[in-house]
Amino acid sequence: MNSEIEKPEGVSLRPIPETAVNIYTPKNTFDATVVSKRRINHPSSPNYDWHIVFDIDGCDMEGKYRIGQSIGVIPAGRFNDPALNQIHRGLNSKVRLYSIASASWGDSWDGKTVSICVKREMSEDPVTGQLVFGAASNYICDAKPGDKVQITGPVGKNFLLPDDPLEHDFVFVATGTGIAPYRGMLIELFNAGVERDLWLIFGVPYSTDVMYEADFRYFEKTHSNFNFITAISREQRNAKGGKRYVQDVLVEKESELIPLLQKQSTMLYMCGLKGMENGIYQWLAKINSDLISIPEGLDAKAVQELARDAAEWPIIERTRNKERLLKETY
Ligand SMILES: Cc1cc2nc3c(=O)[nH]c(=O)nc-3n(C[C@H](O)[C@H](O)[C@H](O)COP(=O)(O)OP(=O)(O)OC[C@H]3O[C@@H](n4cnc5c(N)ncnc54)[C@H](O)[C@@H]3O)c2cc1C
Repeated sequence: MNSEIEKPEGVSLRPIPETAVNIYTPKNTFDATVVSKRRINHPSSPNYDWHIVFDIDGCDMEGKYRIGQSIGVIPAGRFNDPALNQIHRGLNSKVRLYSIASASWGDSWDGKTVSICVKREMSEDPVTGQLVFGAASNYICDAKPGDKVQITGPVGKNFLLPDDPLEHDFVFVATGTGIAPYRGMLIELFNAGVERDLWLIFGVPYSTDVMYEADFRYFEKTHSNFNFITAISREQRNAKGGKRYVQDVLVEKESELIPLLQKQSTMLYMCGLKGMENGIYQWLAKINSDLISIPEGLDAKAVQELARDAAEWPIIERTRNKERLLKETY
């Protein structure tokens, strides 16, 4: 048993709170203390992804955030080196959002902690060739237990679990750190005794990048209603011989997913890189799903052929069924 994801003996489940937003803002931040951190992808991965637990005991956010919301982090003080500070100028004081990765009661079960999952961002400046570290992500991943981090939030009210979660089936689709909210959602659903079908389709470039794999494999082993499938784009091939992305898993599993998504109680969530959306909308168009509307003048076939930056994508995004097709992409 893993006591972070499965309720320990003697602990009562806390009620899910009403949705509260912006209890803390950039002008009124809370100093959260880092309780613990651990790397959540394979040590040989070229990416560095960390699960960080913050102590929010005594904070007005304690017991008031919901899974599906984010918290903001202000990377003030990340760079003590004046040269790096110069590179980042105003960026150091800007809030970056991170999806909450713990259930609404936190990894501590008492609402007094909140956890996030963060990927270190870095790239080379194309002009100078200098390595540039993302300000907030490295600030958080460098923090040590006991360090204080300025947080804001909670933020967002459009990517939550429904108020009657046990009455729904769920298809969760993630790329990269988009996995964060599903960890908390699954912890909430399984501990509430969900009996409906749950799918988690998770896309990453390499198998070493699969985050929280032990947690999801544990759920897979202990809950026969849970399907966990990874799409490893740079290692696996789809039926046409191309890279296998999350939308290829949707195609492979059509015989189960089409009838599931035809049920009006099934919710489809997508979270992660903005680029994941088009492939999912194309699949929904192909299966004639009522989760999206095809813009006038197009048909399902034409949607398959739309250019990546076509003007129709924002229309499809805006007119989707927002009650049942939820998205958080960045
Ligand atoms: C709703 C929402 C939820 C999110 N959830 C998560 C989450 O759960 N986990 C997560 O990890 N992220 C998440 N993000 C993304 C996160 O908010 C940050 O955008 C991300 O961590 C990068 O921030 P940073 O401060 O590290 O990088 P920044 O300092 O903002 O830099 C961004 C990128 O630009 C590069 N860069 C900066 N300056 C230069 C330069 N001069 N030349 C070349 N390159 C440069 C950096 O190396 C970096 O790769 C989420 C975003 C949103 C909107």
